Amino acid sequence: MGRFLRIKCECGNEQNIFGNAASEVKCLACGKVVAKPKGSRAVVYGKIISVL
Ligand SMILES: [Zn+2]
Repeated sequence: MGRFLRIKCECGNEQNIFGNAASEVKCLACGKVVAKPKGSRAVVYGKIISVL
């Protein structure tokens, strides 16, 4: 899953993240963690809008 995902945070901010992020990804607007690495892929806590 080496792709970019477009996700939406609870706060409404949308941003693109790497599908197998190696580190925590935080929302650029509110700072909430929206994805965490787990094994070789990321666990997304926001809503996945699309796969780019
Ligand atoms: Zn947010």
